[in-house]
Amino acid sequence: MATFWELLFNFFFPLQCINCRRLLTADNKDRVCGDCWSRIIYLNRPIDIRLSLEEIWSVAVYDGVLRKLIHQFKYKEKKYLANPLGKLMVDFVEEYLEEEKFDYIIPIPLEKARQKKRGYNQAELLARILGEAVNKPILTNLVERRKKTKPQFELNKKERFENLSGAFEISESVKEDVATIAGKTVLLLDDLATTGATLDECAKTLKRAGVSEVYALVLAHGI
Ligand SMILES: [Zn+2]
Repeated sequence: MATFWELLFNFFFPLQCINCRRLLTADNKDRVCGDCWSRIIYLNRPIDIRLSLEEIWSVAVYDGVLRKLIHQFKYKEKKYLANPLGKLMVDFVEEYLEEEKFDYIIPIPLEKARQKKRGYNQAELLARILGEAVNKPILTNLVERRKKTKPQFELNKKERFENLSGAFEISESVKEDVATIAGKTVLLLDDLATTGATLDECAKTLKRAGVSEVYALVLAHGI
């Protein structure tokens, strides 16, 4: 139920779906209409790239509504989209993944300068929502993104892998976390996977540090 103040606010500043601009009721906290949500194309099996990981899962296809929502979430400061998008990941994990499969969640880190500019790491926001829902700890300081890499979308598949080589390192400042992850299973989390190059490079770094199995979950998979 919307409160009186929400109704009043909505009268002067009507809420619109950020995808299709349809008017929404004042209590729609997601700011996305039901029709747009229903047009997301969900996936229900691991995606067909494996690399250094045991498995990679994607909640949905990177297309249409979801593509637009992820763009708004990452580049247009629509931080509140972490809630509905994170919920999609929670639903996916509860339906398709046995919780026991991983001990820790690690969101793919951003380069420090990029995170500072954006003000948040979208993968970390999603990881927090998932971690809380399935009661798994999140490690955010263990892996650092080191090298200044070119934007991946400018590169072809081979160049994408080369561009990311050596991009991650285990932080020296969290030695206690390094001891904790030895022999454990990690779920890497990101908003988007295309070739899987980023996940692959991060998984390699974790395995060198003693992690035994690395799975990944992304919100969307596409080109
Ligand atoms: Zn809509």
